[in-house]
Amino acid sequence: MQGRLTVAGVPVDPVTMKEAETRAAGLLEDGGRHLIATPNPEMAVLAARDPGFRKILEGADLALADGFGLRIAARIEGTRIPATITGAEFTLRLARLAEQKDCSVYLLGAGRGVAEEAAKNLTLNFPKLRIAGAEQGGSIRWIAGAWEEDAALVDRIAAAKPDILLAALGHGKQERWIRDHLPKLPTVKVAMGIGGTLDFLAGRVWRAPYLLRKLHLEWLWRLIIEPWRFFRIFEATFVFLWMVLKNRLKGVR
Ligand code: UDP
Repeated sequence: MQGRLTVAGVPVDPVTMKEAETRAAGLLEDGGRHLIATPNPEMAVLAARDPGFRKILEGADLALADGFGLRIAARIEGTRIPATITGAEFTLRLARLAEQKDCSVYLLGAGRGVAEEAAKNLTLNFPKLRIAGAEQGGSIRWIAGAWEEDAALVDRIAAAKPDILLAALGHGKQERWIRDHLPKLPTVKVAMGIGGTLDFLAGRVWRAPYLLRKLHLEWLWRLIIEPWRFFRIFEATFVFLWMVLKNRLKGVR
Protein backbone atom coordinates (compact mmCIF):
# COMPACT_ATOMS: atom_id res chain seq x y z
CA MET A 1 0.00 0.00 0.00
CA GLN A 2 1.30 3.45 -0.96
CA GLY A 3 2.01 5.88 1.90
CA ARG A 4 -0.03 8.94 2.77
CA LEU A 5 -0.34 11.62 0.12
CA THR A 6 -1.05 15.31 0.36
CA VAL A 7 -3.69 16.25 -2.21
CA ALA A 8 -4.95 19.81 -2.53
CA GLY A 9 -3.19 20.52 0.76
CA VAL A 10 -5.00 17.83 2.77
CA PRO A 11 -3.87 14.33 3.76
CA VAL A 12 -5.21 11.40 1.78
CA ASP A 13 -4.49 7.72 2.32
CA PRO A 14 -4.61 6.24 -1.18
CA VAL A 15 -6.63 3.15 -0.37
CA THR A 16 -9.38 1.13 -1.96
CA MET A 17 -12.60 0.54 -0.02
CA LYS A 18 -11.36 -2.92 0.96
CA GLU A 19 -8.06 -1.54 2.25
CA ALA A 20 -9.88 1.22 4.12
CA GLU A 21 -12.02 -1.40 5.86
CA THR A 22 -8.95 -3.43 6.80
CA ARG A 23 -7.32 -0.29 8.20
CA ALA A 24 -10.45 0.60 10.19
CA ALA A 25 -10.61 -2.95 11.58
CA GLY A 26 -7.01 -2.54 12.72
CA LEU A 27 -7.82 0.78 14.39
CA LEU A 28 -10.62 -0.89 16.34
CA GLU A 29 -8.23 -3.52 17.62
CA ASP A 30 -4.91 -1.82 18.29
CA GLY A 31 -5.84 -0.40 21.69
CA GLY A 32 -5.52 3.23 20.54
CA ARG A 33 -8.05 6.03 20.05
CA HIS A 34 -8.41 7.20 16.51
CA LEU A 35 -9.90 9.80 14.22
CA ILE A 36 -11.02 8.86 10.73
CA ALA A 37 -11.46 11.84 8.44
CA THR A 38 -13.00 12.00 4.99
CA PRO A 39 -11.46 15.08 3.38
CA ASN A 40 -13.46 16.45 0.45
CA PRO A 41 -12.97 19.51 -1.78
CA GLU A 42 -14.93 21.79 0.57
CA MET A 43 -12.76 20.67 3.47
CA ALA A 44 -9.62 21.31 1.40
CA VAL A 45 -10.78 24.88 0.76
CA LEU A 46 -11.46 25.34 4.49
CA ALA A 47 -8.10 23.79 5.41
CA ALA A 48 -6.33 26.27 3.12
CA ARG A 49 -7.92 29.12 5.09
CA ASP A 50 -7.73 27.53 8.53
CA PRO A 51 -4.36 25.95 9.41
CA GLY A 52 -5.83 24.65 12.70
CA PHE A 53 -8.34 22.58 10.76
CA ARG A 54 -5.63 21.35 8.40
CA LYS A 55 -3.63 20.21 11.42
CA ILE A 56 -6.58 18.23 12.75
CA LEU A 57 -6.91 16.50 9.37
CA GLU A 58 -3.19 15.78 9.34
CA GLY A 59 -3.57 14.13 12.74
CA ALA A 60 -6.22 11.71 11.45
CA ASP A 61 -5.23 8.05 11.57
CA LEU A 62 -7.09 7.33 8.38
CA ALA A 63 -7.90 9.98 5.77
CA LEU A 64 -10.28 8.87 3.03
CA ALA A 65 -10.72 10.91 -0.13
CA ASP A 66 -14.39 11.84 -0.26
CA GLY A 67 -15.25 13.12 -3.69
CA PHE A 68 -14.17 12.92 -7.27
CA GLY A 69 -12.70 16.43 -7.00
CA LEU A 70 -9.83 15.07 -4.94
CA ARG A 71 -9.08 12.46 -7.58
CA ILE A 72 -8.95 15.19 -10.23
CA ALA A 73 -6.68 17.25 -7.96
CA ALA A 74 -4.40 14.24 -7.47
CA ARG A 75 -4.10 13.87 -11.25
CA ILE A 76 -3.30 17.56 -11.65
CA GLU A 77 -0.65 17.21 -8.95
CA GLY A 78 0.84 14.12 -10.61
CA THR A 79 -0.32 11.50 -8.09
CA ARG A 80 -3.15 8.98 -8.05
CA ILE A 81 -5.89 8.06 -5.62
CA PRO A 82 -7.32 4.58 -6.31
CA ALA A 83 -10.85 5.28 -5.07
CA THR A 84 -13.12 7.87 -3.57
CA ILE A 85 -14.83 6.80 -0.40
CA THR A 86 -17.69 8.97 0.79
CA GLY A 87 -18.48 9.44 4.46
CA ALA A 88 -21.95 8.00 3.83
CA GLU A 89 -20.57 4.82 2.25
CA PHE A 90 -17.87 4.35 4.84
CA THR A 91 -20.38 4.80 7.66
CA LEU A 92 -22.18 1.71 6.35
CA ARG A 93 -18.92 -0.24 6.16
CA LEU A 94 -18.06 0.81 9.71
CA ALA A 95 -21.53 -0.25 10.86
CA ARG A 96 -20.98 -3.66 9.30
CA LEU A 97 -17.56 -3.96 10.94
CA ALA A 98 -19.06 -2.89 14.26
CA GLU A 99 -21.74 -5.57 13.95
CA GLN A 100 -19.15 -8.23 13.12
CA LYS A 101 -16.85 -7.21 15.98
CA ASP A 102 -19.63 -6.51 18.47
CA CYS A 103 -18.56 -2.87 18.82
CA SER A 104 -21.19 -0.36 19.89
CA VAL A 105 -21.86 2.86 18.01
CA TYR A 106 -22.97 6.31 19.20
CA LEU A 107 -24.61 8.62 16.68
CA LEU A 108 -24.29 12.30 17.49
CA GLY A 109 -25.61 15.18 15.43
CA ALA A 110 -28.16 16.45 12.92
CA GLY A 111 -31.60 17.85 13.76
CA ARG A 112 -34.19 16.67 16.22
CA GLY A 113 -35.04 12.97 15.91
CA VAL A 114 -32.69 12.40 12.95
CA ALA A 115 -29.98 10.41 14.79
CA GLU A 116 -32.64 8.19 16.39
CA GLU A 117 -34.27 7.57 13.00
CA ALA A 118 -30.86 6.87 11.44
CA ALA A 119 -30.10 4.40 14.26
CA LYS A 120 -33.37 2.60 13.60
CA ASN A 121 -32.64 2.30 9.90
CA LEU A 122 -29.08 1.14 10.57
CA THR A 123 -30.32 -1.68 12.78
CA LEU A 124 -32.77 -2.73 10.05
CA ASN A 125 -29.71 -3.33 7.87
CA PHE A 126 -27.45 -4.61 10.63
CA PRO A 127 -29.72 -6.36 13.13
CA LYS A 128 -26.97 -7.25 15.58
CA LEU A 129 -25.47 -3.76 15.60
CA ARG A 130 -25.40 -2.31 19.11
CA ILE A 131 -26.43 1.35 19.21
CA ALA A 132 -24.96 2.87 22.38
CA GLY A 133 -26.88 6.10 21.89
CA ALA A 134 -28.26 8.53 19.34
CA GLU A 135 -28.89 12.23 19.87
CA GLN A 136 -29.13 15.49 18.02
CA GLY A 137 -26.27 17.94 17.69
CA GLY A 138 -28.15 21.20 17.65
CA SER A 139 -27.02 22.29 21.10
CA ILE A 140 -23.31 21.95 20.39
CA ARG A 141 -21.98 25.45 19.95
CA TRP A 142 -18.56 26.80 19.06
CA ILE A 143 -18.54 30.46 20.04
CA ALA A 144 -15.65 32.90 19.76
CA GLY A 145 -13.03 30.20 19.47
CA ALA A 146 -14.29 27.97 22.32
CA TRP A 147 -16.91 25.31 22.94
CA GLU A 148 -19.92 26.24 24.95
CA GLU A 149 -19.21 23.16 27.04
CA ASP A 150 -22.03 20.77 27.76
CA ALA A 151 -20.65 18.46 30.44
CA ALA A 152 -23.91 16.48 30.57
CA LEU A 153 -23.58 15.60 26.89
CA VAL A 154 -20.02 14.36 27.28
CA ASP A 155 -20.99 12.44 30.44
CA ARG A 156 -23.92 10.84 28.60
CA ILE A 157 -21.72 9.63 25.78
CA ALA A 158 -19.01 8.44 28.19
CA ALA A 159 -21.60 6.56 30.28
CA ALA A 160 -22.93 4.79 27.18
CA LYS A 161 -19.38 3.43 26.63
CA PRO A 162 -19.42 3.43 22.82
CA ASP A 163 -16.58 1.88 20.83
CA ILE A 164 -17.30 4.04 17.80
CA LEU A 165 -18.51 7.64 17.71
CA LEU A 166 -20.01 9.04 14.52
CA ALA A 167 -20.37 12.82 14.68
CA ALA A 168 -22.52 14.69 12.16
CA LEU A 169 -21.97 18.33 13.06
CA GLY A 170 -20.88 19.68 9.69
CA HIS A 171 -17.30 19.53 8.45
CA GLY A 172 -14.77 21.44 10.47
CA LYS A 173 -16.91 21.55 13.56
CA GLN A 174 -17.25 17.78 13.87
CA GLU A 175 -13.52 17.06 13.49
CA ARG A 176 -12.70 19.80 16.00
CA TRP A 177 -15.31 18.48 18.46
CA ILE A 178 -13.86 14.98 18.18
CA ARG A 179 -10.29 16.25 18.65
CA ASP A 180 -11.29 18.20 21.76
CA HIS A 181 -13.55 15.59 23.37
CA LEU A 182 -12.01 12.23 22.51
CA PRO A 183 -9.76 12.42 25.60
CA LYS A 184 -12.92 12.57 27.74
CA LEU A 185 -14.47 9.52 26.07
CA PRO A 186 -12.17 6.68 27.13
CA THR A 187 -14.04 3.80 25.47
CA VAL A 188 -14.11 5.35 21.99
CA LYS A 189 -11.62 3.59 19.73
CA VAL A 190 -12.66 5.16 16.47
CA ALA A 191 -14.42 8.48 15.86
CA MET A 192 -15.39 9.83 12.48
CA GLY A 193 -17.01 13.02 11.24
CA ILE A 194 -19.83 12.04 8.90
CA GLY A 195 -21.36 15.34 7.70
CA GLY A 196 -24.85 14.89 6.30
CA THR A 197 -24.83 11.07 6.62
CA LEU A 198 -27.40 10.90 9.42
CA ASP A 199 -29.79 12.92 7.24
CA PHE A 200 -29.30 10.36 4.45
CA LEU A 201 -29.66 7.40 6.80
CA ALA A 202 -32.82 8.84 8.31
CA GLY A 203 -34.26 9.36 4.84
CA ARG A 204 -34.49 13.15 5.37
CA VAL A 205 -32.25 13.91 2.40
CA TRP A 206 -32.01 11.72 -0.65
CA ARG A 207 -28.65 10.85 -2.09
CA ALA A 208 -28.26 11.40 -5.82
CA PRO A 209 -29.54 8.61 -8.08
CA TYR A 210 -26.91 5.99 -8.92
CA LEU A 211 -26.37 7.27 -12.47
CA LEU A 212 -25.62 10.82 -11.32
CA ARG A 213 -23.23 9.45 -8.70
CA LYS A 214 -21.49 7.34 -11.35
CA LEU A 215 -21.14 10.44 -13.54
CA HIS A 216 -19.65 12.32 -10.55
CA LEU A 217 -22.53 14.77 -10.64
CA GLU A 218 -23.71 14.36 -7.04
CA TRP A 219 -22.97 18.06 -6.54
CA LEU A 220 -25.48 18.91 -9.29
CA TRP A 221 -28.14 16.81 -7.53
CA ARG A 222 -27.52 18.61 -4.26
CA LEU A 223 -27.75 21.93 -6.04
CA ILE A 224 -31.17 20.93 -7.39
CA ILE A 225 -32.59 19.61 -4.11
CA GLU A 226 -30.87 22.13 -1.82
CA PRO A 227 -30.37 25.29 -3.92
CA TRP A 228 -29.40 27.28 -0.81
CA ARG A 229 -26.15 25.31 -0.92
CA PHE A 230 -25.13 27.24 -4.03
CA PHE A 231 -22.22 29.01 -2.35
CA ARG A 232 -20.92 25.82 -0.73
CA ILE A 233 -21.17 23.90 -3.99
CA PHE A 234 -19.42 26.73 -5.81
CA GLU A 235 -16.58 26.46 -3.27
CA ALA A 236 -16.39 22.68 -3.61
CA THR A 237 -16.16 22.84 -7.40
CA PHE A 238 -14.86 26.05 -8.94
CA VAL A 239 -13.01 27.58 -5.98
CA PHE A 240 -11.43 24.18 -5.24
CA LEU A 241 -10.30 23.60 -8.81
CA TRP A 242 -8.95 27.11 -9.10
CA MET A 243 -7.02 26.63 -5.85
CA VAL A 244 -5.47 23.38 -7.10
CA LEU A 245 -4.56 24.82 -10.51
CA LYS A 246 -3.10 27.98 -8.98
CA ASN A 247 -0.97 25.97 -6.57
CA ARG A 248 0.17 23.69 -9.39
CA LEU A 249 1.28 26.71 -11.40
CA LYS A 250 3.14 28.02 -8.35
CA GLY A 251 4.63 24.57 -7.73
CA VAL A 252 2.93 24.23 -4.31
CA ARG A 253 1.05 21.07 -3.36
N1 UDP B 1 -25.24 19.89 12.39
C1 UDP B 1 -25.43 19.68 13.77
N2 UDP B 1 -24.99 20.63 14.62
C2 UDP B 1 -24.36 21.75 14.20
C3 UDP B 1 -24.16 21.95 12.81
C4 UDP B 1 -24.61 20.99 11.92
O1 UDP B 1 -25.95 18.67 14.19
O2 UDP B 1 -23.99 22.56 15.03
C5 UDP B 1 -25.69 18.84 11.45
C6 UDP B 1 -26.70 19.27 10.41
O3 UDP B 1 -28.01 19.22 10.95
C7 UDP B 1 -26.48 18.22 9.34
C8 UDP B 1 -24.98 17.92 9.44
O4 UDP B 1 -24.57 18.43 10.71
O5 UDP B 1 -27.18 17.05 9.66
C9 UDP B 1 -24.13 18.60 8.40
O6 UDP B 1 -24.52 18.20 7.17
P1 UDP B 1 -23.82 18.73 5.85
O7 UDP B 1 -24.39 17.96 4.71
O8 UDP B 1 -23.87 20.21 5.79
O9 UDP B 1 -22.34 18.23 6.12
P2 UDP B 1 -20.97 18.82 5.66
O10 UDP B 1 -21.05 18.88 4.17
O11 UDP B 1 -20.77 20.15 6.28
O12 UDP B 1 -19.95 17.84 6.16
